[in-house]
Amino acid sequence: MRRYDASEIEPKWVERWEAEGLYRASEDPADPRPRFYALDMFSYPSGDLHMGHAEAFSGGDAVARFAAMRGYNVLHPIGWDAFGLPAENAAIKRGINPKEWTYANIEQQARSFRRMGMSFDWTRRISTSDPEYYRWTQWLFLRLFERGLAYRKNAPVNWCPKDATVLANEQVINGACERCGTPVVRRDLTQWFFKITDYAQRLLDDAEPLDWPERVITMQRNWIGRSEGAGVTFEIAETGDAVEVFTTRPDTLWGVTFFVFAPEHPLVPALAEAGGTRTEVEAMLEAVRATPLANREQEASRGGTRVGVHAVNPVNGENVPVFVAPYVLMEYGTGAVMGVPAHDQRDFEFARAHDVPIRVVVQPEGEQRDAATMTEAYDHEGVMVNSGPFDGARSPASIAQVTAWLEEQGKGRSAVTYRLRDWLISRQRYWGAPIPIVHCPEHGEVAVPDDQLPVLLPDDVDFRPGGESPLARHEGFVNTVCPIGGERATRDTDTMDTFVDSAWYYYRYCSPHAETQPFEAAAVERWMPVDQYIGGVEHAILHLLYCRFLTKVLFDMGMVGFTEPMLRLMNQGQVIFGGASMSKSKGNIVEPMPLVERWGADTMRLNILFAGPFEDDIDWKLIAPDPHRRPGVTTWLGRVFAAVGDACERDARDPEPLRRLTHRTIRAVTDDMERFRFNVAISKLQVLSNAMRSALDGGEGAREAAAALTLMLAPLAPFAAEELWREVLGNPSSVHTADWPAFDETLAREELVTLVVQVDGKVRDRIEVGADADEETCRKLALASEKARRAIDGRELVQVIVREPRLVNLVTSR
Ligand SMILES: [Zn+2]
Ligand SMILES: [Zn+2]
Repeated sequence: MRRYDASEIEPKWVERWEAEGLYRASEDPADPRPRFYALDMFSYPSGDLHMGHAEAFSGGDAVARFAAMRGYNVLHPIGWDAFGLPAENAAIKRGINPKEWTYANIEQQARSFRRMGMSFDWTRRISTSDPEYYRWTQWLFLRLFERGLAYRKNAPVNWCPKDATVLANEQVINGACERCGTPVVRRDLTQWFFKITDYAQRLLDDAEPLDWPERVITMQRNWIGRSEGAGVTFEIAETGDAVEVFTTRPDTLWGVTFFVFAPEHPLVPALAEAGGTRTEVEAMLEAVRATPLANREQEASRGGTRVGVHAVNPVNGENVPVFVAPYVLMEYGTGAVMGVPAHDQRDFEFARAHDVPIRVVVQPEGEQRDAATMTEAYDHEGVMVNSGPFDGARSPASIAQVTAWLEEQGKGRSAVTYRLRDWLISRQRYWGAPIPIVHCPEHGEVAVPDDQLPVLLPDDVDFRPGGESPLARHEGFVNTVCPIGGERATRDTDTMDTFVDSAWYYYRYCSPHAETQPFEAAAVERWMPVDQYIGGVEHAILHLLYCRFLTKVLFDMGMVGFTEPMLRLMNQGQVIFGGASMSKSKGNIVEPMPLVERWGADTMRLNILFAGPFEDDIDWKLIAPDPHRRPGVTTWLGRVFAAVGDACERDARDPEPLRRLTHRTIRAVTDDMERFRFNVAISKLQVLSNAMRSALDGGEGAREAAAALTLMLAPLAPFAAEELWREVLGNPSSVHTADWPAFDETLAREELVTLVVQVDGKVRDRIEVGADADEETCRKLALASEKARRAIDGRELVQVIVREPRLVNLVTSR
C-alpha cells in the first residue's frame, strides 16, 4: 500500500516542474493550441503571504491548471505591486530603505509561492518598482501628457496628516484615510491628474456586456454616476455675469427661490464686492479652508452667507437672492446650484434657516399643497403648477418637454453630468515612480524625452515624510536642465499613485523583457484580452476602472485592438477570522506557510477550496484544522493514495456501477470546475474514491476510476496528483500536461428507477429517482409525496420501511 507523505513528494515536484519548464507559456507561433490568459491580481509585498493570498491563488491556480488540461496554451504569470505607502511606512519604522524591505518581502513571497507549487511562468516575473518596469509607467504617463490626458491644476485636495500625502477621493472613506484611518484635511496643492472623465460614457457603455459579477458592474456604474438633465443659465442682476447650473429636474425651475455658489467659485469675490458683503464672505471662505473636503458634503446643510446680489431666473425673470455655502463643491457640476426648497429637502432646510420663500410647483393631482404649512420638501411627482406655460403638465414626464422649451427659448440645453472626477495621481511620497516632467522657467512643463527614461528614483533620499515630496530635498535629483533649451530647470518631485503601476501590469506580462517598448503589440495581440481575471472585490472600482480607462487610451492610440482588458472576472471571498476581517492591528492575521510546512501545500489548498463556495467569505476560525490532528483532507488524500495504489495491482476491470459513477463524476466535476465550484467538485471526488474503495474491498478492479480521479484531482491538489500519475500509475509525462478526462455519454447518463410509495402496504405513488438514490433521499421523497399524505390522512406514522431505491412503505397507526 502507498503511504501519503506530503513532505516527501512536494519539494521533489517543485524542483522537477521547474527543471522541466512545465508552466512556461509557449510563444511558438506554430503551437496549435488556443491560448488562455489566466490572471491573478498581483501581490502587494507587505510581508509573507497571508491566508487571503492562499485562497485567491489556490483558486486561480486551479483555473490555470484546468485550462491547460483542457488543451489550452496557458499564460499564468506572477509579479509584485511593489511601490507604495505601506512599504515606505514599514521601512521608516524599521529605519531601512523601502527598497530593501520590499525586495526582501518579494523574495519571501516568491519562495512561498514556489513551495505551494503555483503554476506560474516564472520567466515573466515583474515588479513595478524595477527600473525596467517603471520606465514604461513613465513612458505611458508621457503618452497621456501628449494627448492632454495628464494635466496639472491647483485644486483643494484630501490630505492625510499621518501619511503626509494627498489621497484621491476614492481613497477617502467616510472622511478618513483609507490606509490609516486618520481624518483627512483639506489642502490646496498643484497636482497631476489623469483625465478619466473624458472616458466616463465609454466606461459605462462598455461595462454592460462584460462577463463580470453584476455587483462589480453596478458599483462601477454608481461610481461613474451619470445623470441626465438640463444646463440652465442664470444672470446676476447686479453684474450681468452669466452662470450655468445643472439640474436633473428642469421641471421645477419655476420653484427656484434662491441661488448658491461654492465658496471657491471664481466669481464670488467680485459678487461680494458688488453686494457689499466682502467681510462676511471672506470670513466664510476662511472657515471653509480649514474644513476637509470630504466632510463638506455631509456637513449640516444650512450654513451659508447672503452675498447681497441676485440671480435672474431665466424662466420667469424673477430675482432670487444669492448665497455662498460650503455644501456646494467647486469640484462637482459648475460650482453653482439653484435652490428649489419646495421639492428638495436640503434646499427646504436651507430656505427655512435663511428666511427664503418656498414655492410649490408640483403637486399630486387634485391636492392643494401650501408652502406656509410645509414641514418638509414634497416629492415632485404630480402636476405642475405656478409654472407658466407648463401648468397642468404631468411631472416628471414633462422633463423632456421643459428641456426642449429651454433650448427653443435659448435659456438652456439638455445636459449630462457624471459623478466621476479626474484621477489624482500625484503623491508627495518617495517610494513610487517619479513623474517624468521637467519644470522650465522658459518652457513650462516639459516632457523628459523617451530616450532619457527612466527618470531613476534615487536611493540616497531622506524619505521621511514632511509635507513636501522627499524628492524635493534631493538636490541631485531636483536640479537638471531643460530638454528643450538647456536652461537650468527642476524635475517634478511628485511620484505616481501606485494605481498607475497596476493599471497596465498585465500588458507587461505578455512580453516582460521588451526593451524598446512597454509591450510588444504582437504578444498582446496573442494573449489579450485576459480570459479570466481573479481577485478581491475590494478592487471593484478603482483598480478595475483604471485598467479599463488605460486600455481605452491605448486603443485610441492604436496600440491595442480591443477596448476592454478583462473578459471574465471572478471575485473570491475574503478569508476572515472569528467574523472579523484579518488585520495587523487586530493581531488576527493567519499565514498559510506553517500549515504548508506541517501538512503540505495540497492540504492547504484542499482545506481552503473545500471550505465553501469560492466567492463566499471563509472564516478561518471555523475551518482551520485542529493543529494536533491530521486534517480531514490529508486523511482523504491518504485514502486516495491507498485506493489508487491498490487499483494498480488489480487486473480486473472496473465493475459497471463504478464505471457509471466515474463517468457521471467526470461530467459533473467538469461543470463544477467551469463554474468555480471547487468545494462541490472535491466532495464528488470523495464520493468516487469511496466507491473505488468498496469495489476494491469486494475484490473488483478500479483502474479506470483511479486514472480519472487522479486527473480530476490535478488542478486542486497538484502534488498528490502528480505523484500518483507518474510514480503510481506510471505515466511518462506530467499529469498537468495530460488531457482532462472525457466522459462517455451513455455511461454518464443518470439511470432512473421507479420508487414505489406505499401507505400501509397499498401503492399510493410512483416517483422517478436516480438508481443510486440513498435511503435518506428515498425516505424524504416518499414523505413529501402529496398522494401518500392524502392516504395517510393525518394518522400518525409508526414506521417507515425503506428498500432504496425502489420501495418505501409508510406504516400508520390505523
Ligand atoms: Zn493615512
Ligand atoms: Zn526650457
